[in-house]
Amino acid sequence: MNECVVKNDRSFAPETKRCSCGNTRFYANQVCYHSIIVNGNNVFDSDIEIGESEKPYGTYTCTECKAEYEDLDELDNLPINKGGSVK
Ligand SMILES: [Zn+2]
Repeated sequence: MNECVVKNDRSFAPETKRCSCGNTRFYANQVCYHSIIVNGNNVFDSDIEIGESEKPYGTYTCTECKAEYEDLDELDNLPINKGGSVK
């Protein structure tokens, strides 16, 4: 008996904080340092590699409802992130 179980379900994704609308994706900012090649006039020629990437930071904006959060820790105070029991 052949059983092929494909576990490709989103419920296996790690828990993440949610916006009050239930969305889990936010616009954020991140500083990246690229190593590049320039010509003799200091004009960009080509990428070598993406180097250091710093931790993303706010303001965070929900990609769905456009709610803004200075810090994702603010999401901990939303009822939707407190076990789902909304009073
Ligand atoms: Zn939202």
